[in-house]
Amino acid sequence: ETLANQIAAGEVIERPASVVKELVENAIDAGATKVDILIEAAGIQLIQVIDDGQGIRADQLERAFLRHATSKIKTKQDLFQIHSLGFRGEALPSIASVADVFLETAVANAESGAMLHIRGNQILEQKGAEARKGTNITVRDLFFNTPARLKYLKSQTTELAKIVDIINRLAFSYPEISFNLVHNKKRLMQTVGNGNLQQVIGAIYGVEVARDMVTVTAADTDFKVQGWIAKPELTRSNRSYISLLINGRYVRNFNLAKALVKGYGTRLMVGRFPLAVLQIELDPSLVDVNVHPQKFEVRISKENQLLTLLEKMVSEAFNQVNL
Ligand code: ADP
Ligand code: MG
Repeated sequence: ETLANQIAAGEVIERPASVVKELVENAIDAGATKVDILIEAAGIQLIQVIDDGQGIRADQLERAFLRHATSKIKTKQDLFQIHSLGFRGEALPSIASVADVFLETAVANAESGAMLHIRGNQILEQKGAEARKGTNITVRDLFFNTPARLKYLKSQTTELAKIVDIINRLAFSYPEISFNLVHNKKRLMQTVGNGNLQQVIGAIYGVEVARDMVTVTAADTDFKVQGWIAKPELTRSNRSYISLLINGRYVRNFNLAKALVKGYGTRLMVGRFPLAVLQIELDPSLVDVNVHPQKFEVRISKENQLLTLLEKMVSEAFNQVNL
């Protein structure tokens, strides 16, 4: 069992950012409205995620650390209608197999909560806790028993950048949730969680940048697009500032990004890329969901139609504001 968990950890938990991703996605799945993420030493020393979600019942807590013990899928039918981010029941056991994990949790209106301390998949302590609704999970000493994995990590700057990237992505996908990211006691990012996408853009890129962006919308029979694009003078030197949300999920798609760039035409200097956040709504049957869970690439049927729509939307937006 421990070995199976460590093997799974090798796949699911590659680096501190993978832990952050899994824990914050669990908080989102638990219906949190506020998620605090506290990091120390780029996550190698500490990753703490505190949410105000539904919590875990005391009698279910140990089970949550068993492999494939997801609470999110009960029937085979559910597997075809996944609405939650997690559904494999692999994250907690994988993390606990390669780190020191301390979890405190309580469900609403419970008389008391529960606490579990587990390290390398060994339960060290389990007892009652305060009845504060939600979950507070602390991960320390990541990869303490897998030195090879620890050695494979990049510099703290790089590892932290990957964490920031994960949180930014989730903040764009869930503008109604308030995220608060703190590294070495310094706040890096905070969103208000009022559902306003422009405010999320402000929290991530700065209010000045957000204020200077142009709002865009477009629609045809199959697609609805809305979002914010930067003026040509606000561009960046790489593609990573193009955020695409398809039915609320952050995705990467080279062709869509390219269509966006094409829409700028000659307004954009060669080698420059726009800063943009676009929400695209379409019938779920037009998206190929059969992609690797750790990657964000998607395939879209009727892609050419969407590319044309995007390009036109952008060029028309700038014709209007006369830039
Ligand atoms: P999955 O998310 O795929 O179900 P995980 O290993 O990430 O698997 O979590 C196992 C289970 O633990 C979840 O199904 C859920 O019931 C519970 N859980 C984990 N984190 C939280 C949280 N922050 N709040 C409430 N429940 C949680
Ligand atoms: Mg999960």
